[in-house]
Amino acid sequence: MKYIDLHCDALTNEGVLQVTSENLRRGGCLLQCFAAFVDVRKIPRAGRFARAVSLCENFAAMCKRESYRVVRKFSEIEEGSLNAMLTVEEGGTIEGSLEKLEKLFSLGVRMMTLTWNFKNEIGAPNGEEGGLTPFGRECVERMKELGMLADVSHGSDRLVNDVAEIMQNTPFVASHSNAREVFFHPRNLGDGEIRRIADSGGVIGLNFFDGFLSADKSAAGQKAALIAHAEHLIKVGGENVLALGSDFDGIPQNPCLKNPAFMPRFIEALQKKFGARTAEKICRTNALRVMSALE
Ligand SMILES: [Zn+2]
Repeated sequence: MKYIDLHCDALTNEGVLQVTSENLRRGGCLLQCFAAFVDVRKIPRAGRFARAVSLCENFAAMCKRESYRVVRKFSEIEEGSLNAMLTVEEGGTIEGSLEKLEKLFSLGVRMMTLTWNFKNEIGAPNGEEGGLTPFGRECVERMKELGMLADVSHGSDRLVNDVAEIMQNTPFVASHSNAREVFFHPRNLGDGEIRRIADSGGVIGLNFFDGFLSADKSAAGQKAALIAHAEHLIKVGGENVLALGSDFDGIPQNPCLKNPAFMPRFIEALQKKFGARTAEKICRTNALRVMSALE
């Protein structure tokens, strides 16, 4: 079964990549989201937008080189092609400017992770007090109007709830996040936040980082943890909430799921656990539903 992955860091990883066109094709990827991640620790505020724009250019060049089909909306996804969508991780990228947000949209960015690991102009990260700032509210409202997905992965609990209040029945996502009740980590979502995302019609992409999954770092332990997080997310948010957000190239190799070429084996495990119909929802249908809301 072909799958959709909502998050990877291949655009900014300078090492040996997990997400290569060969691995994506072997794994049967239908759509890979590529995040233009701007590292606020390394780039001063005035240079962040310029860095994102140059990553957008790198994305276009990569897609040309690797024959990825660039999609800006759901209806452009082609079944026989390897489709690629551009996203941004770190809302500090827009330097507190809605014009810069709009510029990113015009460059093809269709999802933005509002915060990364530090407070920015938009809001607070996980583990910190505070939600959206007044500018953050304006930003999320503008994203809603534009049809750019608001991604709350890395955000604080309050930020998730603030976004939910603005979005109401417009889907928003946590592109690469797991469940705190299964394994405690501030980056994982609490049950209340899982429900808020599900209530909007949005999705949560299952993250493959061993540090978010389980203390047991063996391949078998990781496989069991991936299934346990999936099960919990479905139990709390329903079977329409779960999708995939690997975080490939932003994380060390997971011993059970080293790169996209290992996806067919994992999909088989999902089918065995949840049945063919629910596995298909996890792998693609739920993400496609959210993307269709971008049209
Ligand atoms: Zn991330």
